[in-house]
Amino acid sequence: MRVLEQRILRDGKVRPGGVLKVDGFLNHQMDVELFGQLAKQWHAAFAGDNVNKILTIEASGIGLACIAAQEFGCPVLFAKKSKTKNIDGSVYTTRVESFTHGNVYDVIVAREYLLPTDRVLLIDDFLANGAALEGLCDLVRQAGATLVGAGIAVEKCFQPGGARLRAAGLRIESLARIKSMSDSALEFMD
Ligand code: 5GP
Repeated sequence: MRVLEQRILRDGKVRPGGVLKVDGFLNHQMDVELFGQLAKQWHAAFAGDNVNKILTIEASGIGLACIAAQEFGCPVLFAKKSKTKNIDGSVYTTRVESFTHGNVYDVIVAREYLLPTDRVLLIDDFLANGAALEGLCDLVRQAGATLVGAGIAVEKCFQPGGARLRAAGLRIESLARIKSMSDSALEFMD
């Protein structure tokens, strides 16, 4: 069994509504040594792809993205939640529907940091319905940059995001793939 799957079985908690709490090691308190192991797995998967920028979304993807960026030797850009209108056209904007909070919000990146010459790897903690990742894909598309793929820590395969985005051509490397989850049992994909 993979290292992240073992950790989820040990320290993860299943909450009502199909939410997995991993606050003890992934997105509140962060186990940086574990992050280093995950980063190495993403680097092995995308080593030949000349990634020169990592893009993630505020807030819980940032820690993972930073450790991944050390492996790739490139900067991290995070899409910021924003209430400001794009008055001067200096940012790319997209809308994201939050799975965990049930609301819709705008995220932005400054045009000067996402360039047509960039080869972008997306990193995020979870893939569920796929809205967060789709928003990031949209920002890359707006910039005319090359989308290399996505590195995800936990994919909840019983939600539709992964299948839809793969069908649309996105390469996704998920390091723990949950097939099903209930209070009493958590099963991973083979
Ligand atoms: P999606 O947009 O794919 O539906 O959800 C992705 C985002 O929602 C992730 O960035 C993550 O922050 C949050 N998320 C989705 N499912 C879970 C979950 O089961 N547990 C936690 N902690 N966050 C989740």
